[in-house]
Amino acid sequence: MKEIAENVWHIDDIGSSVNVYLWRWDGHLALIDTGLPWHGKKILNAIKEAGFNPEDIKEILITHADTDHAGGLRVIREATGARVVVHAIEAMFFKGKWHRWPNFRHPLGVLITPLYFLLSRTVLRLPRLQPDLLVVDTEVLDNGLQVIHTPGHTPGHMSLYHKETGVLFVGDVISHRRGKLALPPAVFTPQPEIVRDSLRKLGRLKNVQVACFGHGPVLTDRAGERLRAFIARTAPPPKRARRPRVATRPGVPRQPKAQVEPPTSESPSVDIELKPK
Ligand SMILES: [Zn+2]
Repeated sequence: MKEIAENVWHIDDIGSSVNVYLWRWDGHLALIDTGLPWHGKKILNAIKEAGFNPEDIKEILITHADTDHAGGLRVIREATGARVVVHAIEAMFFKGKWHRWPNFRHPLGVLITPLYFLLSRTVLRLPRLQPDLLVVDTEVLDNGLQVIHTPGHTPGHMSLYHKETGVLFVGDVISHRRGKLALPPAVFTPQPEIVRDSLRKLGRLKNVQVACFGHGPVLTDRAGERLRAFIARTAPPPKRARRPRVATRPGVPRQPKAQVEPPTSESPSVDIELKPK
C-alpha cells in the first residue's frame, strides 16, 4: 500500500489494473471503490498488513456501478459493517432496477453484447444491495470529500474532491494509461457527449494537486495543469449557437417599428379626471 498524499493511500498490492484507494479522516477510514469481485478479501488483507484495522472502515464510496469498481463491495461491507455511499442515480443499478449495457452506437458494443450479458450475470455480476447513503452533486460529505456528479460513462458516475488538499478521485471519467490521459473506453460509454460536459466540470476545479484514476498511475506532478490541458483538448467549450439577425418566425413578415412623434406645443392636451364627480 502506498501513501500518495496526507491521509490517502493507493491499495496497489491487490495485483490489478483497477485502483482502490483508502481515505482517512478523524480516525475513520473510507474506501474508494472495491475492485473486482475477487478483490474484496485481498483489499481487507492489504489494509491489515499496512497496520490499519479494517473495523475502522466506516464508509465505502463507489464511483460507479461497474463490476471492476464495485465487485468487492459485498465482502467488504459484510466484514466491516461500513455504509455504502453511491450517487442517487447510480443506486438504480445496485437495486437491480437498471442494468448496465455496452454502447450500442459503437460497432463493437453490439458485437460484444452476448458475452457482456453472460459475464454480467455470472462471474462479473454487480452486487445487488440497498446502498446506505445516496448523495448528489456538490454535496460535501462528513469525510470532507465533495461529490461531483460526472455522468456519461454511467449515468450516476461520481468523482470525489477534497478542496483543501486538492486530492481528486475521477473514477473512470479519465484514465491514465501509458503516461497519457484518456477518455473512458467508447464501447462502455453510452453517452460520450455527456462525458465531455463532466470533464468541463472537472476543468473548473481550482486546486487539483493529486489526481487518482480508476485505472492507471496516480498523477502528482502538475496534476491540475495536465488535467486542464487534457480537458481543453478533448472537451473544448461548446460553440454558442449564433442568434439569427432577424428574430421572426418563418413566414411571418417583420413588423415595421411604430413611429412615435415627440409631443409639440400644438399637440392637443387631454384632461383626465381622476376623481368621480
Ligand atoms: Zn473501470
